Amino acid sequence: MDLDGLRADLEQVVRESDATIALLNAEAAEEDQDIVEDDAAEAADFTESDREEALVDAAEARRTEALEALARMDGGTYGVCVDCGTQIPEARLEFRPEAARCVEDQEKFEDAEG
Ligand SMILES: [Zn+2]
Repeated sequence: MDLDGLRADLEQVVRESDATIALLNAEAAEEDQDIVEDDAAEAADFTESDREEALVDAAEARRTEALEALARMDGGTYGVCVDCGTQIPEARLEFRPEAARCVEDQEKFEDAEG
């Protein structure tokens, strides 16, 4: 397994997520300064900030997953499913280097989360 390549991918995910979060937060801060008096515009603005909040949440979640994967790499447990302990297929790690679980356990985990 190309751990150095995967580590570089994970570091890239962290950097990209940081940039996304910073950009969205900067946009949100700008919008907060606009005083909107028109109701329709305000409603649209609310939807927009909801969407941005969802994007920030997604970027933060991905960043956390990538950091956890880097920590597992340092601890020597990278590439092993955190739930069942089986080796995660290399193809899956290349596609999703931050993956903490085998496909089966990831599905169970996501079902449990709702
Ligand atoms: Zn598993």
